[in-house]
Amino acid sequence: MNYSEDNVFFKILQGELPAQTVFEDEDVLAFHDIYPKAPIHVLVVPKKLIATFGDLCEENDVFIGNFFKKVHKVAQTIGVGEGYKMTIHNGTNGGQEVFHIHAHILANATT
Ligand code: AMP
Repeated sequence: MNYSEDNVFFKILQGELPAQTVFEDEDVLAFHDIYPKAPIHVLVVPKKLIATFGDLCEENDVFIGNFFKKVHKVAQTIGVGEGYKMTIHNGTNGGQEVFHIHAHILANATT
């Protein structure tokens, strides 16, 4: 699907909406999910504007490899690198609500 800037993560990336940021670098912004489904629930949002995982193409291979490594780096940064669940919802039928590619980090640790 075509990327639409009319989504909440685009507005957070633009600084138009607030977020509880836990990590940021040139590639991603990570922040607490506003409706946490686990004691620790952080979203890792790439700065690249892609709507769904289904929209990835061959030229994104390096990007997506780096993205998964970055998710783990965020998990380490927030103190759950030893164990967490990474979830990705793809498409409406997969439960995706925000059409800007992202991964969820879910963990029970208290740090
Ligand atoms: P998904 O179903 O993968 O698209 O997940 C979108 C997630 O974004 C949900 O878990 C929401 O709770 C979360 N969310 C929606 N709006 C915000 C917001 N303003 N700040 C942080 N998380 C949000």
